[in-house]
Amino acid sequence: MIHYEAVMMGSPIRLSLSTDKPDRARSVFQLIRQQEQLLTVNRNDSLLMAVNRSAGQCPVVVPNDVFQLVSLAKQVSLLPGSLFNVAIGPLVKAWRIGFTGCSPPPTSVLRCAMQHIDPQDVVLDPDRQSVFLRKKGMEIDLGAIAKGYIADKICQYLSEQQEPYALINLGGNIHTLGQPEHGPWQIGLRKPFAAATTLSARLAVCGRSVVTSGIYERFFLHQQQCYHHILDSRSGYPLNNDLLSVTVVSESSLMGDIYSTLLYGMGLAGSLAWLAHHPELEAIMITRDNAVICSSQRNFHCQVLNELV
Ligand code: ADP
Ligand code: MG
Repeated sequence: MIHYEAVMMGSPIRLSLSTDKPDRARSVFQLIRQQEQLLTVNRNDSLLMAVNRSAGQCPVVVPNDVFQLVSLAKQVSLLPGSLFNVAIGPLVKAWRIGFTGCSPPPTSVLRCAMQHIDPQDVVLDPDRQSVFLRKKGMEIDLGAIAKGYIADKICQYLSEQQEPYALINLGGNIHTLGQPEHGPWQIGLRKPFAAATTLSARLAVCGRSVVTSGIYERFFLHQQQCYHHILDSRSGYPLNNDLLSVTVVSESSLMGDIYSTLLYGMGLAGSLAWLAHHPELEAIMITRDNAVICSSQRNFHCQVLNELV
């Protein structure tokens, strides 16, 4: 197996192919760059930032697949009790977690941000394929789902190119194509807040996506309190519950990315209840006391490495 690496979208990206194909790897990295150019909110010249800059002014016409992605994100945001919010942008920018954030923003700043995060104010026109944010100051943020969407695109490209098997790791969002000769892909789940090499579990998967939403990658500590990057639209603060992470194993990485965030918001009991009715998705939850809990293991195998510490 040959590995190719690059740093993109603020993360180390790793592509594993069966044999040395530098041109193919280059095409994959180019595909990531093109998608980032459309979807990031960390660069002012992206398409999504053009939509955000036109908030309160005018609709922006976007390509069909971006329109579909924003529509899906809005739909998920409007599910009853959903933690997911496609319009969370102003709150994300107020906290700046993972960038310069190191103390909670003043309440007045949070209050102002919270007046601009209603997903109902994301207006979609399917005829024109345009997106309009009703209020100035609103911002769409696809940070919770862009990597899953891109991982699906890469897997589709590699399967069209008849790659026998491949793995793409977009900095925590993993998608696998096929199965290597030596058996299923082995994917380690990091132990939250431990050294990067300490694992809580090891998964064996083939042709599936493995996506984790966790509170231990991007956070800061302030007065013994941990402030992480999954934000609760209702309070304006990071969402705290009994979970440290949710890893979703699914066919679609986009679905895995959406639901890893959504399920994190439901907490352990809520997630298990929800997953019992959705056999297409499976998940591994790590609780605050480091217990590793699997909803089911129909399409992968999970070896727990340290259940309780
Ligand atoms: P990761 O970045 O570890 O893959 P997630 O997929 O859960 O984690 O996405 C977290 C990102 O999603 C945040 O950095 C932010 O950009 C965005 N975000 C934060 N809170 C929410 C929310 N309630 N709904 C939708 N997106 C969110
Ligand atoms: Mg996600």
